[in-house]
Amino acid sequence: MLSGDEGKGFGYILDGLNPERILIAAEALGIGRAAIDKATAYANDRVIFDRPIGKNQGIAFPLAEAHMKLKAAELVIREASWRYDNDLPCAEQANTAKYLASEAGFFAADRAMQTHGGFGYATEYHVERYWREARLMKIAPVSQEMVLNFVSSKVLGLPRSY
Ligand SMILES: Cc1cc2nc3c(=O)[nH]c(=O)nc-3n(C[C@H](O)[C@H](O)[C@H](O)COP(=O)(O)OP(=O)(O)OC[C@H]3O[C@@H](n4cnc5c(N)ncnc54)[C@H](O)[C@@H]3O)c2cc1C
Repeated sequence: MLSGDEGKGFGYILDGLNPERILIAAEALGIGRAAIDKATAYANDRVIFDRPIGKNQGIAFPLAEAHMKLKAAELVIREASWRYDNDLPCAEQANTAKYLASEAGFFAADRAMQTHGGFGYATEYHVERYWREARLMKIAPVSQEMVLNFVSSKVLGLPRSY
């Protein structure tokens, strides 16, 4: 049985890559948010020298920065998914969303691990899982480098490097 038109199979596969990138971007965003929630709760709770560690700007500022990076990534995810839902070209937006959300999600997970100190490595706190999962999104379903290749050649019109 033939599904779709003969000779157009590769195009159909490519069509599936953009929503996959948007989906993974949303996953990175969710992991980043979960990591920030956990880190914020811990920073309020963990007391060292009679004060919660969240009082230290060295802990609080990176969490605020992580929150803002996630917000920015969310906007691009929304733009990409809106374009996809409305049958508009969305390769640039889907790739950009995947790139920015992966960076933001990993930054958030990394700051959550730092906020937890040694406990960040303990499986019970789930932070190591967030960190590990967020790191994957910089490799799969497409690596950050290949997104940069796409944007530099297809969006900016620079010569292809490979
Ligand atoms: C947990 C997990 C689940 C996965 N699930 C799936 C799945 O369900 N379906 C699926 O199809 N695939 C899946 N993959 C594969 C994933 O898509 C690839 O691992 C990913 O696209 C990177 O390809 P690669 O591993 O072959 O790396 P390679 O292509 O060997 O690249 C290795 C490194 O070199 C860099 N690199 C390569 N070429 C260039 C270049 N021209 N310029 C700059 N840097 C370059 C890459 O960015 C990367 O960092 C999964 C991978 C993992 C780890």
